[in-house]
Amino acid sequence: MNAQLYLETWNIWGKFISYGLAGIAGVILLYHFLSLLSIRDYKKRYDFINKHEINNLWNAAVVLLFAIGIYINTLVPEGELIWVLVRLFVTVMMGLIVGVIISNILKFYYPFYVEKRLKKLRFTPRVSPKSGKAMKLLSEEEEDVYLDEGMQAEENVFSVDYDVWIDEESGYTKIEKYAGHLIALQCPECNYQTLKVSKEEILESPTESDEGELMKFYKCDYCGYKERKAFRVAKLNESGAEPALVTS
Ligand SMILES: [Zn+2]
Repeated sequence: MNAQLYLETWNIWGKFISYGLAGIAGVILLYHFLSLLSIRDYKKRYDFINKHEINNLWNAAVVLLFAIGIYINTLVPEGELIWVLVRLFVTVMMGLIVGVIISNILKFYYPFYVEKRLKKLRFTPRVSPKSGKAMKLLSEEEEDVYLDEGMQAEENVFSVDYDVWIDEESGYTKIEKYAGHLIALQCPECNYQTLKVSKEEILESPTESDEGELMKFYKCDYCGYKERKAFRVAKLNESGAEPALVTS
C-alpha cells in the first residue's frame, strides 16, 4: 500500500472511530442526567451530584475532545506525510489547550454552580413518609436530642454536619450526614474560596482528666497553599455530655 491509500483508509475508519467516541460521550452525559432524574431522595441526589457530576462531565469532555480531534484529521483527502504529521501535532496542541480550559472551568467556576444546587437540595423540606407532610429542619440546639453521643462527638470534633428533619405530626425523624469539609474557606494566599480540610488527625484523644488534641490539615485547591491548625478537644465529661471543640 502506498501512503495515499493508507490515508484514504484512515479517513474512513477515523470517522467511524470519532462517531463512536462522540456516542460514548453522549452516553456518559445521558447516564448522568438520567441517574439524577431517577433519584427521588434529595439527600441521595445531593450525594450523587457531589460525588459524580464534575467527574462525569470531565470524562465526557475528554472523550468528546478526542472525537473532535480525530474527526478533524480525517477531513483532508490527500496530503504528504509531513502535512499529515503537522495537522496531527496542531490538533494535539489545540486539544491540550481546550482540555486545560475545560478542566479549569470545572475545577474553579463550575463548583459555585454545583454548590448552589446542593444548598437547595439540602434545605428543601423533606416529605414525611408517615404523614405526607413537609418536615421541619431542627436547629443545631434542637437536634442534639436526636443524635446519639457518637454523632454529637463527630459533629463537634470532625468536619461533619448532621441535619435532623422531624415530622411534627407523627414524630418521624430523618437524619442526614453531610461532610463539613466540603465547605471551602478563603485561601490567605490566593484569596479564592478554595481552602479545604484535606485531613484530620487526632493527636491525643481526650480523657476524663485531660484535653485532647486534633490537627486539621488544609490545602488550597487553586494555588496548592497548605496549612495546619491544632485544635484542643475539651476533656470528656463524666456526665456523658459531648466533648466540645475549643479553638486555640
Ligand atoms: Zn490558594
